[in-house]
Amino acid sequence: MKDYHTHTPGKNGGYLCSVSRADWEAVAAAEEMTPCFGVHPWLAAESDPARIAFDLDEWLVRYPQADVGESGLDATPAHKETMEQQRILLQVHLGAAYRHDRMAHLHGAGAWSELLTLLRERQKRGTLPRVLLHAWNGSHEMAREFLHLGAIFSVGLRELSHPKASIRYARIPAGKIFPESDDHPETFPRAVALLSLLRADLT
Ligand SMILES: [Zn+2]
Repeated sequence: MKDYHTHTPGKNGGYLCSVSRADWEAVAAAEEMTPCFGVHPWLAAESDPARIAFDLDEWLVRYPQADVGESGLDATPAHKETMEQQRILLQVHLGAAYRHDRMAHLHGAGAWSELLTLLRERQKRGTLPRVLLHAWNGSHEMAREFLHLGAIFSVGLRELSHPKASIRYARIPAGKIFPESDDHPETFPRAVALLSLLRADLT
């Protein structure tokens, strides 16, 4: 099983997301992983969205196997002050993912409902790319709304250890939810095992 979200190249393969613009070179060079180019919402305040838009176009052309990420929104107390910059940077990423037909790997801590609204608006305009929501910890009802938009999900040990994990994850259809290490490779085997346990009642 491949790792659906990490920032460290690992033996499981999977999606290797950049955090900052400075990471792109190393991410592109990692072997047997899908490189994802983007700038994390935590760095939105110090990023130039026009520059990122320009660079994304260039790098996605150069790397046809690459995806877009990490991007997204973070409305938790430590990051909510930069929401306006985060929104602009997220739209830059979604636009590039749509134009180049790549999946956008999204973070949405504390901001899932705003993310849902924003993705719905893009769907209405016909500019919605494929999206993966990483560290997904929203309700099953909200998951259904994202599924209508074609989203897939990844979850790690932290999400899978939550008391509500079975309510949140057991009913998401097969092929729509996957394990991630989120930079903690030692947790990956347990995440894989827990996710399959939670979903055993489906099969
Ligand atoms: Zn991440």
